[in-house]
Amino acid sequence: MIPGTLEYAIHYIVEERLDVRIFDARYNNDDTGRKAINPKLLIKIILFGYSMGMISSRSLEKACQKHTTFMALACGRTPDHSTIAAFVSSIDLEIEELFTKILLICQEEGLLSGTHFSIDGCKLSSNASKEWSGTFADLKKKQEALQRKVKEAIQEHRKTDKKEKASVTDNERLAKRIKHLKQKADRIEKFLSENKPRIGSTGKEIQSNATDNESAKQATSHGVVQGYNANAMVDAKRQVVTHAQVFGSGSDTSNMQPMLEGAKQRLEKIGNKNPLKGKQISADTGYYSVENLKACEPMKVDAYVPDPQFRKRDIRFIDAERHRRSVDKRKEKYKSKKRFFSVEDFRYDDRTGRLICPAGNALYVRNRNFKTTDGYKAIAYQAPKTACRACHLRSKCLRNQITESRQVHIFSDHRPGSLTDAMRKKIDTPEGRHQYSKRIAIVEPVFGNIRSCKKMDRFTLRGKVKVNIQWLLYCMVHNIEKIMNYGRSFAVT
Ligand code: SF4
Repeated sequence: MIPGTLEYAIHYIVEERLDVRIFDARYNNDDTGRKAINPKLLIKIILFGYSMGMISSRSLEKACQKHTTFMALACGRTPDHSTIAAFVSSIDLEIEELFTKILLICQEEGLLSGTHFSIDGCKLSSNASKEWSGTFADLKKKQEALQRKVKEAIQEHRKTDKKEKASVTDNERLAKRIKHLKQKADRIEKFLSENKPRIGSTGKEIQSNATDNESAKQATSHGVVQGYNANAMVDAKRQVVTHAQVFGSGSDTSNMQPMLEGAKQRLEKIGNKNPLKGKQISADTGYYSVENLKACEPMKVDAYVPDPQFRKRDIRFIDAERHRRSVDKRKEKYKSKKRFFSVEDFRYDDRTGRLICPAGNALYVRNRNFKTTDGYKAIAYQAPKTACRACHLRSKCLRNQITESRQVHIFSDHRPGSLTDAMRKKIDTPEGRHQYSKRIAIVEPVFGNIRSCKKMDRFTLRGKVKVNIQWLLYCMVHNIEKIMNYGRSFAVT
């Protein structure tokens, strides 16, 4: 192996720097049974395979038989696909330790600054079909439809059987179809009897999935996929992944707390005291939620998480419109121009102390101490039903024409204890913009590298634990590459 190549780095790190005694209990079976393949060899094959986008165990098995680099890494051993697959899916505890050890090597090699971290996630499909998704009621309906189809197919089979000239292939085809439909119906029945409905954060039932119930539907730029939301927290200096975790939810609004906790624990394990206290953490607007901002408080981190409207307030983007693609501008032309009256269209009358609507009617105070679910205080105004009922501006004022009268909430300028308001103010400062602008250069190249260069486009395993192993393995490959490129011991002299 040639120094300076990734295969050399993987070989050197696994052989010389990585302590793999955690596998001893499972693989030291000298007394009984067949001699196990050294876990070091398996780790090397898997990491190198992942770096080339070979995620399936069968492709790794083939590579060990044909590819000279794989042969060298495996010391001539040829593990079969079931050995590789069983190894990957069973290292849920060991992988956490291996990842932390790689992170320790990154620290020893001077790749961590520990000053600014960025969090982001990518939504990847997994080994689950979105056709098998739905609430329990949906799945029950699907099962009943399948059972109906089975009955129809049996009837058709009987009819064909009675025909004198019934061909053998027709009978076989129908028998196959019946078996296939029955299998599908039984699968849903088994799933419904063994599982309970999934309840979302709002307390309502969310969609379950009969193939992988921990995965979720994820909205991506190229449509909806059934899979996982793979998150990574990245250090600013050399884009080293300090913590990685997958979530079975399409939204990032509650991921901050587990990501910060996970990164803190890892950084503490490698010898850092209070690793996140006072450190800058940036994340995109997907993470802007009260829950995420609350999670930053006890950690005492200096978070930069902008709201979705922050660009509109940023003077640097005042003429951003002219850079928009003409095709988007054309689409805009066909968009509905319908605009409803907003709070700004209502005028406060200082003399009477009442709010005046665009039609000139005075609104009355319905609740002076109105509180939103996020704890924001406001004064709730309501227009008289008689005024709205006959109003000529009704279609411009009420989104839903069934609504009897318009309500308006005027928030007080100062919302005590509002984390979201404080964050908006912080992001709008020159320092806030400067810190947030670092995010794109810190975290996005990591996802670019893993998804484009390492060809990671889907997880092949099922279940959150196994998918998490695959995601950590990919992030480990990324970190090893960083050690190879920038590590002190690897520096070309
Ligand atoms: S719908 Fe009601 S609140 Fe709206 S403009 Fe007309 S009267 Fe005023």
